[in-house]
Amino acid sequence: MTQPRLFDNHGRPLNYLRLAVTDRCNLRCYYCMPAEGINYLPKKELLSFEEIERLVSILASMGISKIRLTGGEPFVRTDLMQLIEKITHIKGINDVHITSNGILMGPHVKELKTMGIASVNLSLDTLDADRFKKITRRDEFDKTWNTLQLLIENKIQVKINAVVMDEKNIEDIIPLVELTKNENISVRFIEEMPFNGEGSHYAKLNWTYKRILEHIKSSFPNLQKISDPENTTAYHYQVPGFKGNIGIIAAFSRTFCGTCNRIRITAQGVLKTCLYDDGVLNIKDLLRAGKSDDEIKTELLFAFNHRAKDGVEAEAARKQHPILTESMSTIGG
Ligand code: SAM
Ligand code: SF4
Repeated sequence: MTQPRLFDNHGRPLNYLRLAVTDRCNLRCYYCMPAEGINYLPKKELLSFEEIERLVSILASMGISKIRLTGGEPFVRTDLMQLIEKITHIKGINDVHITSNGILMGPHVKELKTMGIASVNLSLDTLDADRFKKITRRDEFDKTWNTLQLLIENKIQVKINAVVMDEKNIEDIIPLVELTKNENISVRFIEEMPFNGEGSHYAKLNWTYKRILEHIKSSFPNLQKISDPENTTAYHYQVPGFKGNIGIIAAFSRTFCGTCNRIRITAQGVLKTCLYDDGVLNIKDLLRAGKSDDEIKTELLFAFNHRAKDGVEAEAARKQHPILTESMSTIGG
């Protein structure tokens, strides 16, 4: 049977779901939440695994074929591996990806490989243990580094996510590029967005994707543009002769909205059809109100048919609170 296809009101295909399984985290990354953390949701406000499975099945029957489990830190949710197992068996879900800080993932890497996980995005903003501690406010560099080695050894596709921050990790940009010399991994440099739960860190973004690129080119003048996979948010480059590649993600400048194929479900069970909107449908309420699958599909389709054209329009339409008060830990990245 051919897979159904889903489109938004601007003709963009929607096939990719990013689902935050929790808002809790074992780190306190400077760019994501305040040092004291955020007010975590009471556990009963998180979607249960049964609710997540049902929701993913509904979305898969509509045309979603790729899912990323994220958080908060997905591995702080007890029995996460059972959920992953179940999701890999949902009809229509072809690839399951995970975004993690890697701290608790190490013991599960072999099993993830057996389950056929398509890739892991590992957050690693620095290769220096002291800077890691300053950025994440926890002394856990070794665990993330060991997980990276295990992922590589077990041949799980790895993308490193590094948020570029003034006065925090600029000296890491070039060493992170050098990691791609001998390993077939992708290192993605991400513009810092103001989703840190405490307000803007800068009057204006200093490290834009253009500046990051110029900085890398000053050490690697022969850096080559390579083709970008479909619907990617990153501009890809490679140093000739290196096994891996790098990506630069203009997350704040929002240059990729025209081909955006993704929807998000936050830790509260709220649908976001754009990273910059403030939630367009409370799916948890629908699930808990006893709505049928068809009723939920109707509501989802309405949301997909009223999707903002881009992140600027979505941000302007926010009704509840400014983005500065949101933490990426509830959105999932
Ligand atoms: N805890 C997991 C992790 O860190 O990989 C998954 C959740 S985290 C919110 C997902 C991604 O969002 C991470 O790669 C992180 O670097 C990115 N992120 C968080 N806050 C960000 C911000 N303010 N600007 C840009 N990226 C951010
Ligand atoms: Fe936790 Fe990920 Fe946010 Fe860091 S970026 S505080 S690891 S959720």
